[in-house]
Amino acid sequence: MASTDSHDVLESTQVVIEQALRKLGYNDSMVELLKLPMRVLSVRIPVRMDDGSTKVFTGYRAQHNDAVGPTKGGVRFHPDVNENEVKALSIWMSLKCGIADLPYGGGKGGIICDPRKMSFRELELLSRGYVRAISQIVGPTKDIPAPDVMTNAQIMAWMLDEYSRIREFDSPGFITGKPLVLGGSKGRETATARGVAIMIAEALRMKGKDIKGSRVVVQGFGNAGSYLAKFMYDAGAVVIGISDVNGALYNKDGLDIPDLLDKRDSFGTVTNLFQNLISNEELLELDCDVLVPAAIENQITEENAPRIKAPIIVEAANGPTTLEGTRIVTERNILLVPDVLASAGGVIVSYFEWVQNNQGYYWSEEEVDMKLEAMMLKGFRHVYEIHRTRSVDMRLAAYMAGVRKMAEAVRFRGWV
Ligand code: NAD
Repeated sequence: MASTDSHDVLESTQVVIEQALRKLGYNDSMVELLKLPMRVLSVRIPVRMDDGSTKVFTGYRAQHNDAVGPTKGGVRFHPDVNENEVKALSIWMSLKCGIADLPYGGGKGGIICDPRKMSFRELELLSRGYVRAISQIVGPTKDIPAPDVMTNAQIMAWMLDEYSRIREFDSPGFITGKPLVLGGSKGRETATARGVAIMIAEALRMKGKDIKGSRVVVQGFGNAGSYLAKFMYDAGAVVIGISDVNGALYNKDGLDIPDLLDKRDSFGTVTNLFQNLISNEELLELDCDVLVPAAIENQITEENAPRIKAPIIVEAANGPTTLEGTRIVTERNILLVPDVLASAGGVIVSYFEWVQNNQGYYWSEEEVDMKLEAMMLKGFRHVYEIHRTRSVDMRLAAYMAGVRKMAEAVRFRGWV
């Protein structure tokens, strides 16, 4: 039988955006405008490789909508980057900014490449080449990049330096996720995971449970997954499963997370050092209290959703659950905290970084964490309230919360 479950992330995003705008009472023109980014730039970046050859890379920058303010979102370095994914990711960024009530629209960038197979020098040339190629459409008041999958503070530093050279002034607010010495914010590196941890605690509270002693499974051990596992471990949860691209580790009595953190490499790989692995598929179906997909898209689908045992799913990754997967877990009364809410911690602290850069005044880590927690909890309560009062699933509720401000800004500006 043919599958009815679309794994095309752009297509499924558009389905929910349309449902959200219709529920909010907007017309066809608003749907037409907001179902795609207002601008997508595709660029070719030649890089002189270490062996003397020149390799030409393809990159993208998508800007969903700037009615609310400048666009904002990460740059992904990955072999599977494609235009539709970047478009969908820019829409998700708009939703995250909307839920957190940040003065931004969404943006996203990506380059088709495999940083695991590139030298430091090649990565620097690629990062600088990307900024030169997109420099006309980005800037601290236009569109502000940040790290995403397989990009980090060093890459942000090269991008900042290239932009500052082109513009001939120092411009720390051009990009976020920078090293602290270049105007980065305290708490930025761990912000996504901290936000997810706050959502887990809140979801457990709703189910009448405590974080202490709760059994947590985390798929993915990169920036989002590994820090999250550490926060859970430190809070007294029992992290019984983690995974990376090579497989998964499981121990019903809990894994030694600090040891795994010590052993993981900079791409979030650690399981290759162990034997007796289970598969990522098995990991998702483990008996646990909280399941956190923190790796890649389309992991919970119509195929495995009926077998998920966790009563709570908190999406740290972007797009880990398909629409059919969402329908099935909702019907099974699993509390799903969707990506556009759960993983907004990164963009929230990126916003704090940009504010600090604009002010030239820097905050303590405690201040960052306190403000992050307040914003995440406000977002959760707002989304949960819509879910309850409008009888819609948590994903549709999050989209409704996330798109409303942008649609209103569009309407006031007289665009639609
Ligand atoms: P990362 O590159 O640091 O880590 C990715 C992890 O996923 C690695 O452990 C990798 O081995 C694993 N992985 C890759 N392919 C896999 C597969 N097929 N099966 C299982 N595991 C696999 O990336 P990250 O920054 O931690 O991002 C992870 C997810 O979280 C992405 O969806 C990203 O968009 C989302 N996210 C990240 C941030 C952030 O601030 N880092 C913010 C919001 C959302």
